[in-house]
Amino acid sequence: MNVRTVPCLTDNYAYLLVQDGHAVVVDPSEAAPVLAALDGLVLDAIWCTHHHWDHVGGIPALLAHRAVPVVGSRYDLEHGRIDGQTAGVGAGDTVRFGSHVARVHTIPGHTLGAIAFEIDGGLYPGDTLFVGGCGRVFEGTMAQMRGSLATLRALDPALRVWCGHEYTVKNLEFAESLAPEPEVVERLADMRAVRARGEPTVGRPLAAELATNPFVRWDAPPVAAAAARLGADPADPDAVFAALREAKDRW
Ligand code: ZN
Ligand code: FE
Repeated sequence: MNVRTVPCLTDNYAYLLVQDGHAVVVDPSEAAPVLAALDGLVLDAIWCTHHHWDHVGGIPALLAHRAVPVVGSRYDLEHGRIDGQTAGVGAGDTVRFGSHVARVHTIPGHTLGAIAFEIDGGLYPGDTLFVGGCGRVFEGTMAQMRGSLATLRALDPALRVWCGHEYTVKNLEFAESLAPEPEVVERLADMRAVRARGEPTVGRPLAAELATNPFVRWDAPPVAAAAARLGADPADPDAVFAALREAKDRW
């Protein structure tokens, strides 16, 4: 299986998972760039990490191109939040594509119906985990979001993170403002260089998030110390996470 990154809208990414002339699309923000990227591949299914318009907006036009299953969370199916959704999945469920099986993780916080797909060495967390950051907490609680990030950070550190937006440089600038650790400073320089070449920063190992992303490092001393300066109890993971997320909202 290989992965094609499909830039959409201003800073969104959809992904084509490709095997043997067939494809699944993850989070089709809009149809035109996805149809162009298909380039003769047969679309087998649409997988959605959450119901926000900038992740599902292309579904009606893709279904007009070819009627395929639309997989999202059980929550979003029950609430009718994704146009054309045919299947609702949650933690422990699997979804097949070709010879591969995706594991589903339930990760509420950004939205209550957020899920991640894990397949063939790749993790598709939508807007919950970004390279260097995390999504805003729109529907869940801060504790739910931290719990969801705890679920993701416990996965295989070799997994490549294919997230929903190109926010990496801004995220790492925020991380550097909290604690200019060498790994963070170096990664920020690397990612600025990647962007200067016009390339996406996504598809990098989860291990790099564990070393540089403050939103999965509530128990790392420099990050907890930064949260303490913001008024949080550094020994309370939920308080540390909430202080960082609120600071980022204002940043
Ligand atoms: Zn979103
Ligand atoms: Fe989004």
